Amino acid sequence: MLRRALCFLVICAVIAFSPAVYAAKASTSSAAYKPGSRLLAVVGKTAGASTVPGGQQLTKIRWANHIDAVTGAGKLRLVIDATGPIQAKGTVVASPTPRLIVDVKGAVPGNTDCDIDLGGKIADSIAMKSEDGKDTVITVEMPLMVDESEYKVFTLKKDPANKKPYRVVIDINQPVLPANFSFTPGLKDKLIVLDPGHGGSDPGAIGSAGTTEKAVNLAVTLKVKALLAKAGAKVILTHQDDSDVFGPNASAVDELKARATVANVKKADIFVSIHSNAALNRGAEGTSTYYYQKTRYDSLLARNLQAAMIETGGLEDKGTLPANFYVIKRTVMPAALVELAFLSNPAEEKLLANPQFQLKMAEGIVEGMERFFAQAATKGGAQ
Ligand SMILES: [Zn+2]
Repeated sequence: MLRRALCFLVICAVIAFSPAVYAAKASTSSAAYKPGSRLLAVVGKTAGASTVPGGQQLTKIRWANHIDAVTGAGKLRLVIDATGPIQAKGTVVASPTPRLIVDVKGAVPGNTDCDIDLGGKIADSIAMKSEDGKDTVITVEMPLMVDESEYKVFTLKKDPANKKPYRVVIDINQPVLPANFSFTPGLKDKLIVLDPGHGGSDPGAIGSAGTTEKAVNLAVTLKVKALLAKAGAKVILTHQDDSDVFGPNASAVDELKARATVANVKKADIFVSIHSNAALNRGAEGTSTYYYQKTRYDSLLARNLQAAMIETGGLEDKGTLPANFYVIKRTVMPAALVELAFLSNPAEEKLLANPQFQLKMAEGIVEGMERFFAQAATKGGAQ
């Protein structure tokens, strides 16, 4: 009979911990950080994992959470003991919620105690599962996305001198702890930064009838601005007219950095970048919204914008999608990037150039923001 083990736990508790303290709340001892440990294989960086005999067990999970008092950087180290050599490889997925998936080859969960509270800042819970009775999938649920450069999965050899078994090590780093947000319902007095995509020397996409993306984006943004102002919100645009933010013909990154900086410096409540889509396939159509889950609210903002734009604009619902776009990743507040419709689709190009349709999309964006603040307020601002 195949040995099958399932170890599953979801911890939603948010434990506040003071900076510069090692928290070791696991039922086992804390995972000691040994800088001198020998790496067998660093996934994605070093090849050379040896052949694995298989049939091993994962016997114990240990962890440590560390916050640097000076930089605010956070680090979570998970160490999973194994009875013999194993291979491990980690992948981060953004959807449906951020999670790190670690495939461990050659071992099944043993009598492991998974009843661990991972603190909730960097990770919420860990689950181990073997589907085939040979290998294990470890899933670490995280509240926020991490970059390729912010996690590492590797294995360590048995170290008899220090009485250490074979191990899988999972390191997750957070350069800076996310800010605490607390929202109230309503648009009044909210500080909203709007970013009309492209502009100046960068026209963005261009439709077959000659409509430029920068013109559509700016027209819709100005309508959003007017509606928000009427509702009592404070609105700042990254650029007011058809111009570059950083300067004419700046590099793409400088230009995007300048846009994110506007929102960061002004300490906006939310940031929304407005774009129109384009695809090689002229049949591609619909509305979509992108987010990067770097606060607990980014996907909530995206979902609300998307739903309301579908209601008012009536185009195909292409849904919300996680993405690495600079302006939604490097803004510190909840942010989203909307793609109103496809300029490459002749029918949608016509719509995008039409002030009535532009107003409908603007109304959708404002309605989505209003719903977002109402829902974010019920979250209580708790991180
Ligand atoms: Zn664009």
